Amino acid sequence: MSRIESTYKIPVMRDLLAKKLTRPVVGSLVGCVHCGMCNEACHYVLTHPDDPKMTPSFKVDQLRKLFKYNYDWTGKAFPWWVGAKEPLTDADLDVLKDIAFGTCTNCRRCTLNCPMGVDTAVLNRIMRGLLSSVGVMPEGVRVVSKDQWEIGNQMGVLKEDYLETLEWMSDELVGEVEDETARIPVDRKDCDVIYTINPREAKYDPRTIAAAAKIFWAAAESWTMPSEGWDQTNFGLFSGDDQLGGASARRVYEKMKELNAKRIVISECGHGYRSTRCEGPNWAGVDQDFEMESSVFTMLRYVKEGRIAVDPTRLGQRVTYHDSCNLARSCGITEEPRELLRTVATDFVEMIPNRAENFCCTGGGGAMSMSEYTPRRLKSARIKADQIAATGAKIVVTSCHNCVDGLNDLIKHYKLGCEVKQLVDLVADALVIEECAVKKKPKVVLEMPKPDMPLKGRRILVVDDEADIRVFLRTVLEDAGAEVYEAADGNAAIAEARRHKPDLITLDLSMEHKDGIETFAELRSDDELADIPVCVVTGHPEFREVIYSRAVPPPDGYKDKPVKEEELVEAVWRILGLHNHKVHV
Ligand code: SF4
Ligand code: SF4
Repeated sequence: MSRIESTYKIPVMRDLLAKKLTRPVVGSLVGCVHCGMCNEACHYVLTHPDDPKMTPSFKVDQLRKLFKYNYDWTGKAFPWWVGAKEPLTDADLDVLKDIAFGTCTNCRRCTLNCPMGVDTAVLNRIMRGLLSSVGVMPEGVRVVSKDQWEIGNQMGVLKEDYLETLEWMSDELVGEVEDETARIPVDRKDCDVIYTINPREAKYDPRTIAAAAKIFWAAAESWTMPSEGWDQTNFGLFSGDDQLGGASARRVYEKMKELNAKRIVISECGHGYRSTRCEGPNWAGVDQDFEMESSVFTMLRYVKEGRIAVDPTRLGQRVTYHDSCNLARSCGITEEPRELLRTVATDFVEMIPNRAENFCCTGGGGAMSMSEYTPRRLKSARIKADQIAATGAKIVVTSCHNCVDGLNDLIKHYKLGCEVKQLVDLVADALVIEECAVKKKPKVVLEMPKPDMPLKGRRILVVDDEADIRVFLRTVLEDAGAEVYEAADGNAAIAEARRHKPDLITLDLSMEHKDGIETFAELRSDDELADIPVCVVTGHPEFREVIYSRAVPPPDGYKDKPVKEEELVEAVWRILGLHNHKVHV
């Protein structure tokens, strides 16, 4: 480790930090009260309990010291008291490098658990950016960033190799489905969809490209893949380099405009989605006047619109779902992947905890490119390994290529004996081609006009411990034509549901004896009652997360009290599928 004085590096970092001091950033810098409530949220802390350097607050205190030393009045007045300090030597910077890149995957789980709203991952990314700006970064980060700058994708895949891979996958697909129109279109203009991928797919896992192509073909989609600007990932998110972030995102947007596509579809990748869909327009300084979506949404839409048909019984193995930190925690995508997964799998078990509270796969934040930290990373992966093992699943499904690598690594290390797949693999394998749009005219779902008595002939069980609410709900639903039964608590609800087999249950959450959360779990785990749609009607929105994080299928609808008459009828009408009318056009 060198002890050379950092004569030019510190002023560069200091100036760059000044440009990053937005109101939310300063809020996170000054907001930490060192309460330690976030410690238990971090997989590094949980697996290194005796090492205080693993706590989220310690990691970003290093940035705080620099901030206070240069920009905060407390640091100028009482530097010794508030710990205001600047790194002095290259050796100091190496220590900061180890902390910023090697002890945090920027997963943001601590952020979610901080009462002060401190965004540790944002601060850690800033520290990474400061270090990167003066060339202090792990070798892997340097190589990957260079490839993305110079070659246009972060794995250095040459254009001819990429095009050859598409050709190879086209040949295989055409052979499989015996249809020349299944060939992957490249640089076709005026399509509805331009499909962008993670370079990992072109380099190591091209079958996911073929799987996506099969789904687009089956759905009779008007689509293309670009010959340039196809890398939806962005190492700028990991290295903290906003300029790289902007340049990478701009390549994708410019190609999309050149080809005049209507929508960018982003293959299953957590950080790619976050970079391209959420952060990219800011980094690139472009107005987002075009559509972008994750391929999870695209596939789910095809299923719902009847453009593809899938057989959920083919899989025959237990699956669980791993939420990517970027998709679930940073972008709020939690329900759509599950909805899609349930169309292609019959035995789905949730990991606990899940959704926004899920633990990182430990491959996030660019960790897979930093081999010097692999032992520490794999040690921290024990949390995720235990989560997976508890499900008994043979297949771990995830909508993120980074997570695929992180999970594969830990599954091998902890000898879990399961495999990792993505939704695109499962959907492609489950396709019932004869029922898909490519083989017949597509089914289109038309909205039915709502009749005067939209719930006529439907039987609904109203569960609420307040008599006046039950009267209100009964009146509204009966006026809409429904036959209504009532229950005042969870035990009565189960008994009434068994007796009347209603078409739908409205469920209050806060009730005496047996509350709605317990009742809901019991309904979902009862073979006889599990399929009855449930619409939660509650005056306690704080329970929403609780009921949606159960290890059972989520409620079919949710309404906050006080609920308006028209809104309740509309929700029930839609949950019962009375608004859809399938026709052939
Ligand atoms: S980041 Fe938040 S939760 Fe963690 S120590 Fe600071 S104030 Fe407490
Ligand atoms: S962002 Fe994730 S890895 Fe980093 S300190 Fe917070 S919980 Fe730990």
